[in-house]
Amino acid sequence: MLGAAKDLPMTETPVPKAGIDRIALYQGGESRLGGRNDVLKLSSNENPFGAPEAARAAWSDVSGELHRYPSADHAGLRHAIAEVHDLNPDRIICGAGSDEVISFLCQAYGGEGAEVIHTKHGFSMYRISAMASGAVPVEVPEVERRVAVDCILDGVTDRTRLVFVANPANPTGTMIDASEVGRLAEALPSHVLLVLDGAYAEYVEGFDGGAALVEARENVVMTRTFSKIYGLGGLRVGWGYGPEHVIDNLNRVRGPFNLSTVQLAVAEAAARDRNWVWRCLRENAACRERLSRSLAEMGVLSDPSSANFILARFRDEDEANSCDAAFREDGILVRRVRGYKLPDCLRITVGSENDCRRVVGSVRRFREVQT
Ligand SMILES: *Cc1c(COP(=O)(O)O)cnc(C)c1O
Repeated sequence: MLGAAKDLPMTETPVPKAGIDRIALYQGGESRLGGRNDVLKLSSNENPFGAPEAARAAWSDVSGELHRYPSADHAGLRHAIAEVHDLNPDRIICGAGSDEVISFLCQAYGGEGAEVIHTKHGFSMYRISAMASGAVPVEVPEVERRVAVDCILDGVTDRTRLVFVANPANPTGTMIDASEVGRLAEALPSHVLLVLDGAYAEYVEGFDGGAALVEARENVVMTRTFSKIYGLGGLRVGWGYGPEHVIDNLNRVRGPFNLSTVQLAVAEAAARDRNWVWRCLRENAACRERLSRSLAEMGVLSDPSSANFILARFRDEDEANSCDAAFREDGILVRRVRGYKLPDCLRITVGSENDCRRVVGSVRRFREVQT
């Protein structure tokens, strides 16, 4: 048996599987700014109104149950999601954030020899999860910060197993319409799974995140999250909706107790609070339009955003850096997006009306010292 060891290189320390040490670590939004206690965090697309009251109440209600193992089939949460979104509960899988669902998808459908397509400015977890599975991430171009179906199709080979598209996309905030998504699903070879990441779907009035397409096809999955409009980024709950054969495979790589009693109960309460989503959607849309208009008046343009952030564009990287420095002086944290190949941009979460006013004031002062 030991003979096999001959083929392995001799090393001083245990060696991870190929490619692991090349994974670039995820860069999260900053939350602290040396010594200040008035920091306005607009770097992680969090809900400025926090979590719904019903979710906080559920949190304290479960405190007597902490010695019990949680439900392994997530039936309560899956049925709540299914009722609210009018979906089939048997086609839902829940994870520790949609990040975990993305990871399940890569583990089940990626792996050594597979290629996983993401677009130029696509969410960084696609690449990380693909590489963790042993697959090769393949980046395809976008056109003017927008996902381009034909560029994706050009990137498909017989090794392609997964295609990740966020709609609306992060960090660009742009969207492609349902006919384009449908065309992509139709044109992909049948062995390729199209993943529609709907982390910001709730911010688009009347948008189903791709659920109808999932139901019409065998090769489309949708992922969703409680981290954004539900204001539960710290809780870590997301879910996926897909054909039964896909959900069955994802459940095989999912740990039985991947979600705690607390996560399940709080997310279920949040899901059932339909009013919350409606109120946050309206408030976000109004504040986002005012913010992008005010910045545009000062020469800081952004593409029309369908999410809870805008991607502010500057003349060049230097100007983006200087504006970021000015924000910091004013205690405002936004997201640098150089790692997303957008060095001349800053991603700014849409906060409350007051938050947005602070951002606009900061950019105004920045412009004044510039001239
Ligand atoms: C925030 C975000 C997610 C959600 O991540 P969670 O793990 O659910 O917190 C997924 N995809 C995109 C594009 C995001 O921006």
